Formats: sequence, structure tokens, C-alpha cells
Amino acid sequence: MNKHDSERVAGLLESSGLSHGPDIASADVVVFMTCCVRENADGRAMGQVASFKALKDVRPHTIIAVGGCVSQRDGSSLLRELPHVDIVFGTHNVGRLPELLSRAMAGERGVVEVLDGTNDFASDLPGVREHPWHAWVPITVGCDNHCTYCIVPRVRGPERSRTVESVIDEVTRLVADGVREVTLLGQNVNSYGRDLYGQPRFAEILSRVAATGVPRIRFATSHPKDLSDETIAVMASSPSICKALHLPVQSGSDRVLRAMNRHYTQSTYLSLVGRLYDAIPNLALSTDIIVGFPTESEDDFQDTLRVVREAHYDQAFTFIYSPREGTPAAAMEGHVDREVIQDRFDRLVAEIHSGATENNAKLLGTTQRVLVEGASRRDENVLAGRNEGNKVIHAPIPIGRRAEELAGTFVDVEITETHTWFLAGTIIG
Ligand code: SAH
Ligand code: SF4
Repeated sequence: MNKHDSERVAGLLESSGLSHGPDIASADVVVFMTCCVRENADGRAMGQVASFKALKDVRPHTIIAVGGCVSQRDGSSLLRELPHVDIVFGTHNVGRLPELLSRAMAGERGVVEVLDGTNDFASDLPGVREHPWHAWVPITVGCDNHCTYCIVPRVRGPERSRTVESVIDEVTRLVADGVREVTLLGQNVNSYGRDLYGQPRFAEILSRVAATGVPRIRFATSHPKDLSDETIAVMASSPSICKALHLPVQSGSDRVLRAMNRHYTQSTYLSLVGRLYDAIPNLALSTDIIVGFPTESEDDFQDTLRVVREAHYDQAFTFIYSPREGTPAAAMEGHVDREVIQDRFDRLVAEIHSGATENNAKLLGTTQRVLVEGASRRDENVLAGRNEGNKVIHAPIPIGRRAEELAGTFVDVEITETHTWFLAGTIIG
């Protein structure tokens, strides 16, 4: 969501006559988009903003704007700690940045605008896409769930859905503009439409997006409690919907899941995973897991390891529990020892690595359709892209071709090598 918002910020600034500078040190305007989901991200963003004091001392006319979740949470108090910041704007008013910028440029000190909510969708603003062939398309913003560890509902507000028409209009325009892959976004895409239509319409919007002819569709995130059989059926039957699903489990322990307020159990989660693999045998499944939630015991952790083994994840984002002020979990007793958490975290990561390595090994000798992203970061003679399972695939660039001209096109790659986090092969055909 932050990437999407950042693309809109860039688009708005470009349409106000600004352009991307060659580096931050020579920029006249610097915009930070912050995240406060975990202390780590929060601290890193604030550390970077703080380090810009030195730049501001040398280039006092540089305008520093801070947006995103930290701004939404802290509002004007952010200026007390960071007085060199010129603009603080929240998550609901990205579209107002040009106006706030002109006030700051006219000499107003400490421009703060943080709203409680809005009906505007940032997607309706001009955007500059990071890759011309990929677009983020929010279908909902905010969240109506109350996972006890999570700050998102507070900083992004209640769940609001875009109308089906507005989403389809945007995707149709994107396809005409050469976009090959869209990622539908929402904190819980499965409840899409509930606020507008009285019941979720995710399966419907998914098939309508597929009907626009966009070659590849991804979506995130699916809350396990709301993933319907109808959605699974649409995924299974639409060739353009990637056979990849992000299904955060957070923990495998029923006791911890209850304390997290997740509304499913280990067995309902695993039976959902079973239904998914039955309907979509080549599904690439990914997840999020939190280690060290208050009161988590070794037995609870063993339950998480059991789910990891049984769900055969291709990828897992693992997080050490981070207490967020104002969330119910932050006030819970039973904080787990740092060393115990680190030990569990290391064991979890090792389990995930071995599962991912095993899954990838099964793809040796297969042919994978890859959407090329460009040259690999490690070797300019090798291109990098992703298959529909979201796995990174490398292949030597054919003689006489350039990575830039291949970016955004599909190639077929025969897999000759498999690793934990990427596959390699040669382009065929
Ligand atoms: N709406 C999405 C994403 C929420 S934030 C979802 O429900 O999955 C992304 C991930 O950050 C979450 O899935 C969770 O694993 C992690 N996360 C959120 N709050 C956290 C916290 N306080 N400590 C550690 N990890 C957290
Ligand atoms: Fe946070 Fe839960 Fe909402 Fe995801 S579903 S954003 S984890 S409250």
C-alpha cells in the first residue's frame, strides 16, 4: 500500500511541474512515506528523517515532507522531535500534498494536515509507476479486523471499498497503457465490497478484472477467515489469475490465534490449505508469521512449525512480535524473552528455507512462463523475472537482445538449476 501511495505522490508532484532529481542530496523536495507496523520500520523511517537535518542545515530551502502511517499516528507531535520537517501529511490526504507543498514553499512553517478519514481513493490520482508493466490497484483501504497486535486499523481507518466500476475502469485504462500485471490490494481483499454492497464481492471483482484481458492478476492480502470457495473456484478457472496466494497464518497455535483475535484455528486453516491444493495443485502459497506473541510457549511454537511443514509454503515473511502502543496485545502480560524469541525465529527460518528449497527442486526440468523485470542485480548479462508463483527466475540474455527491451515481456524458461529463493534456466522458443 505504501508503494502504491508513493507512486501517487510521485505522479502528483510530476503533474505539479516537479521532476525526479538525480539524488536526494540535491533535491529541492524530499518526501518520506513511513510505515509503523513494526518498531523496526518505524524507527528506520524516523532515523532517516532525522538524518536529513544535516542536509537541511546546508540547503535550508529543501522542503522535507513526511507522510504515511507514522505521520497519521503522530501528527503535529512529529514536529516536536523533528523540527526540520516542513510538512506532515496523513494516510487519508495524499492528494492534498501539492497544496501543502505550495504553502510550505510560500514560507509557512510546520504545515500539518492529518485527517480522520476520507472517501477519496489515492488510485484516482495521477501516478508514476515504478515499472511501466506493473500496477498496484487498491480495491479496499483500511481494515475492519481487530487483530490484537496490529496498528493498521488505527492508522488506515475502517475498511472502505472502491466501486466495481471504478476498479474496472482503472484496470481497463492500465491495460490500454501496456500494463501486463496488476496486483489488487487490500488489507483483507476477501471482504471487498461488504461496506458498499452488504456482502463481499471479491470473487466477482476478480472475475471481472480477469475479463479485462490483463495478462496477469495478483492480489494481497487474503485473511484466512474470509477466503471463500467461490474465490478459490475463480482462481482455479481463470488462466490470468496467478496461482499464487498470500495467506498469513501468523501462528499455528489455537491459543495464540485466539489471543490474536484471528477467528480461525490450526485445523480450519489447514483444511482451507487442503481445499486450495485440491483445486489448484500447482499453487504457490506464502504466509506471514509472528514469533514471540505474548505468552507464546514452546508448545505453541511447535504448532506453528507443524503448520509450516504441512502447508508447504513457498515463501514466508517472518516477524518478531513488536508491541505497538495502543494495541490490545501491547498491554498483555507474558512478554517472551528476547533470546527465546531469537532461537525460535532461527528455527522457523531454517524450516521455511528447507521447505522452499524442496518445493523449488520439484521445478527442475519444467518450463516456466516468466514476466521479465530487467537485468539481474548481480549480473547484467542475466535477466530476472517472475513466474506466476512469484518465484524469481534468472536466465542468460539471448545474444543480440537487451534487458531493457525484454522488460515487461513474457519469455519461457526451462529450469536447469534450483535454489532456495530463485531458479535459473535458459530461454526457449
Ligand atoms: N492486512 C495484512 C497485512 C498486515 S501488516 C494481513 O492481515 O495479513 C503485515 C504483517 O505484519 C502481518 O501479516 C503481520 O504478520 C505483521 N505484523 C503486524 N503487526 C505486527 C506486530 N505488532 N509485530 C510483528 N509483526 C506484525
Ligand atoms: Fe492488521 Fe489484522 Fe487488519 Fe491485517 S487483518 S491489517 S493484521 S488488523
